[in-house]
This record gives sequence, C-alpha cells and structure tokens, in this order.
Amino acid sequence: MLSMHTSPLEQPGTGDAGGLNVYVVELSRQLARHGVEVEVFTRAVSSRVPATAQLAPGVTVRHVDAGPFEEVRREDLPAWLCAFTADVLRTEAGHEPGWFDLIHSHYWLSGQVARAAARRWAVPFVHTSHTLAKVKNDALAVGDRPEPAGRLHGEQEVVADATRLIASTAEERAHLIGLYGAAPDRVDVVAPGVDLTVFRPGGRGGGGPVRPGDIAASRARSRLRLGLEADGELLLFVGRIQPLKAPDILLHATAELLRRDPSRRARLSVAVVGGPSGAGLEQPDALVKLAADLGISDLVRFQPPAPQPELAHWYRAADAVVVPSHSESFGLVALEAQACGTPVVAAAVGGLRTAVADGVSGLLVPGHDPLRYADALDRLLRQPRLRARLAAGAIERAAGFGWSATARGVLHSYQHALHPTAVAV
Ligand code: UDP
Repeated sequence: MLSMHTSPLEQPGTGDAGGLNVYVVELSRQLARHGVEVEVFTRAVSSRVPATAQLAPGVTVRHVDAGPFEEVRREDLPAWLCAFTADVLRTEAGHEPGWFDLIHSHYWLSGQVARAAARRWAVPFVHTSHTLAKVKNDALAVGDRPEPAGRLHGEQEVVADATRLIASTAEERAHLIGLYGAAPDRVDVVAPGVDLTVFRPGGRGGGGPVRPGDIAASRARSRLRLGLEADGELLLFVGRIQPLKAPDILLHATAELLRRDPSRRARLSVAVVGGPSGAGLEQPDALVKLAADLGISDLVRFQPPAPQPELAHWYRAADAVVVPSHSESFGLVALEAQACGTPVVAAAVGGLRTAVADGVSGLLVPGHDPLRYADALDRLLRQPRLRARLAAGAIERAAGFGWSATARGVLHSYQHALHPTAVAV
C-alpha cells in the first residue's frame, strides 16, 4: 500500500488525515485476515518515528525519509515524490526478489510513486483516487482554492497507467471514465465500509434487532458519558474543518432555527468535532468568529479530533449529524453516524447520495442554502416519530457497509489485476 501524504497511524479528523487513513487501516486489517501480508509506505513527518511499526498482525507501516521531518503542505509534496519513490525502491531491494505481488496506491501522489515502482518490479498497480481534482474544482466553496494544474495532470497520468482503478461509487466510476478517459473495463466499484463493532447504538451486545427505546437509551448513556445535558437538542458536525466540508452551513442553519423559534435557545446546541485542515489553518478561528457573529457562541462547542470509540459516543448523543459538504467522494462520517442510529442531514452530492437513503435513513438536501438545512433540521427536531423511523432506517442502511465486504471487493480487483483473463467480471 502506498499512502505517501498521510499515515495510517495518524488520528483522523484534522490536517490531511481523514477518511483515506481510516480506509487504509481498515482495508489493510481485513486483507491481513484474508491472508494477504500488507506493507504500508508513508512519509515520515518526524525523526522520532520508527522505521517500521506494526499496525496489526500482518500489517507493517514503513516510514519513508522524504523531505523534512515535519508536516509539509499537500501542495508542496510533489517536490518529495522522487525521494519517496527512491526509498520505496530501496526497501524493496532489501527484500528477496519478487517480494511484492501488487501495489495499491491511495491518492494521486502515491499513484505517481506506484507508476514508477510498478514498472520497475513488473507488478500490477491498483489505484484508489479518494478524491478527484476535476470533481472538486467543479464544486468549490466560496474562498476555497482550486486544485493546481500539476495535480490535474498527475492524476491524469495515474489514471492512464493504473492496471485497475477502484471507485467508491458508480458516480466516481463515471467521473473516471467521463472526465479522465479511463477505460471502462478497468474501473471497479467497491464501496468503503464502517466498523460496525465500534459504530453501533451503545449498550447493546452487538447484533440483534433494535428494540423501541434502544436508541433513546443509547443517546442518554452517551450524553452522560460525554458530560452533556440529558435533555435538549444536539446537532453534530464531525470532520476536518475546511471550506469543502462547510461546517459554516450548520452554524447558519442553527441561527435560522433560532430565528424561527427563539425559545429553542434554551434547548438547542451544536458540537463540532474535528480539527483544522488545509493550507489556511485559520479555519477553526473563522468558525468561532462566525458563531460569534451569528450570536450563537454560547450554543456551539468545538471539540478536538476524537478517536473512533469516543466519536461513536458523539454520534449517539446527537439528534442529527449534519454533513453539508460541497463535494464528498463518499463520506464515512455519514455511514458511521447512521450505524450508531443517528439520522444524517446531508448535502445531496457525490457519495453522500449512496451513503444516505433520502427519507429512509436521513434527509438529503439539494444545494447549500442554509435555509434548506434549517428546514430539514426543523422537521427532524419537531417530529420524534420521523426521527425514530429514520434512526431505524439508518442502522439498517449502515449494516450494508462492512469493511469485510470492501476487502472482498478489493481482493477481486487485485485478482483481476494479477490475472486479467482468469477473473469473471
Ligand atoms: N474522524 C475521527 N475523529 C474525528 C473526526 C473524524 O476519527 O474527530 C474520522 C471519522 O471517523 C471518519 C474520517 O475521520 O472515518 C473522515 O472520513 P470522511 O470520509 O467523512 O471525510 P474525509 O476526511 O475523508 O474527507
């Protein structure tokens, strides 16, 4: 596995660490369970990290010396591609010949490394884009910067050279074919997953149907655990704080909810869990300022990125999780929230349309007008029966996405890459 720009050992939810990290961790673990030994190469961001670390049985993380021992902005990382590639090749040379059967690269930077390594080792490479610059550039938030031409070009090269491409949704597959010219017979669709042992309604011993009252009891327990008020309405945003994820829409929608019903102030609160991301790391401050400008500072709490078991408590504690992203290749947060039995109010964009079944497991909102989010949240908060129905639908929806299914799909793609003529499509 190649994950140059972010390590699977990092805490997701801030900087460059997010869904890709979770994907690499969970997929690697599952592959190891299927008997596939995995080595993940990532850039060392500190001189203190060991050369290798064991992520799980059968999964080794290799820290590659390339560039300074510090966080490097993503747009500056192409300067270190050669050094990274050289170190990957050097490591392989220390193994017995033919050590790696296949390369799986994540994000276009790693795809560039894969292009060189695959040629040298004469092995196939499978690539997952995670995000596509052309799609992102078509849906920029106000104030967001377009992805540079270098990335567009680099992505194009990776798509052209990859033995197979893995898309998270049929829509991403269509983008790879339509926007990047990928050959349709080389693109597989494999949905990412959710760890259903971590993300589930609390207090239940795993599995079994959800009984009436389970969700309310789970919410109460998690609120207690987090030190939150037992009563009251809680809206939650989880993820990296950046314009693309649009947490500002949630704040505007909250102000609108208060405008419509000032008595709500006594019971409504908002939590934002996650840290700054992107070149302009000022974003969380901008959000704090926005809350102040909207007169809702007292209702909004900002929480640092949380490990997933704690995050599960936040999901359970919330009445709704809001995912107003401008673009989203999948949106693991939406899946995780649903797995915990919490309805999602999400933008009807990208993978969120796959993750959330509109009117069944949550509500999809067209566009990014905060008033529309306020409408959806208003409905949800005012109608406990709707909330209960969506909560049950959410659990059912998420149950269809496990990482073991992802690993099976990915393994099928690997088989196809290794033995192109032997695999039935
Ligand atoms: N995440 C986390 N702790 C946090 C915030 C986020 O572990 O405080 C994880 C979350 O569980 C999810 C991932 O970060 O798996 C975010 O993935 P998503 O696909 O929603 O967004 P991305 O970061 O890939 O844009």
